[in-house]
Amino acid sequence: MADAAARPCPWHMPAWEALTAGSRHAHAFLFAGLPGVGKRLFAEAFAAHLLCLQPVASHACGQCRSCLLQQAGSHPDRLVVEPEEQGKAIRIDAIRQLGDFIGQTAQQGGRKVIILHPAEAMNLNAANALLKSLEEPTPDTYLLLVSDQPSRLLPTIRSRCRVQPLITPGHAEALAWLQHSLPDLSPEQHAALLLMAGGAPLRAVALQAIDAASLREQVVEGVKALLKSQQSASQLAERWTSVPLELLADWFCDWTLDLLRLKTGAADVPVNADMDKVLPFMARHLQLPALLDWQSWLLQHRGMLLGKANLNRVLFIETLLIRWKQLLERR
Ligand SMILES: [Zn+2]
Repeated sequence: MADAAARPCPWHMPAWEALTAGSRHAHAFLFAGLPGVGKRLFAEAFAAHLLCLQPVASHACGQCRSCLLQQAGSHPDRLVVEPEEQGKAIRIDAIRQLGDFIGQTAQQGGRKVIILHPAEAMNLNAANALLKSLEEPTPDTYLLLVSDQPSRLLPTIRSRCRVQPLITPGHAEALAWLQHSLPDLSPEQHAALLLMAGGAPLRAVALQAIDAASLREQVVEGVKALLKSQQSASQLAERWTSVPLELLADWFCDWTLDLLRLKTGAADVPVNADMDKVLPFMARHLQLPALLDWQSWLLQHRGMLLGKANLNRVLFIETLLIRWKQLLERR
């Protein structure tokens, strides 16, 4: 294994250079940016850099004892705090564990690093417990918070961190990176994935891993069948077991924006090409107040999903579909 140390994404190199050039580090960092732009990777690389015994040109060497321990996932002075299950909260027990870790002496004799991801998943008790650790920094201990939604963090937590915004790359750069990362896909597939990922390249790779294009096709076909009354909302809700709810809510948000553009005359054709028949038809037959009503319901529930609320999956999809269909019936 020559050099397997984590590296930040190419579009984050300016931020990386600025961060690692500073000889005096803060003890708490907040890496903030949209989902899937490479924040976690950036935090991993920074942790590796902080723990490496002999960094080479601002990167972890990938070969020293500390780097090898990290690559094996068994560095005793590195702690990752995350929800027990994806989408669930980070609870106070995990933060107490973090407190114990901070209290220990570094076993490799150097620094200790904690990666907390995603920081906004902390519930209020956990956040308050973390605040205590932030208020009393320990020398040579670094806390790296990673967040898609820094505005959901307690302001007192944000203000104690050095905030490092991590950008979304430009379209051409993102596409080039994606072509390199998923060489088996066609240029059309790269473009479609990137569009679905809101321009975030690592999210595009994650979407490909769950075959989001097929899931989307399944949902589009389902929505068409629903509007033709060939399928009921509850049948579809039972069937869409592998569609992540956040993704589903995102798609309906995108379609709703298209409906608004079409209804208000801001556009003649929808951005979402796979719905290019359905959306104009709906826009012609629905009323604007009903559309705005629906949009506020959808945004409220999308917010609940992002806030890791525990929604009943089948019930949520069923309600969503019933409301969507009612758009054509409400006057
Ligand atoms: Zn090293």
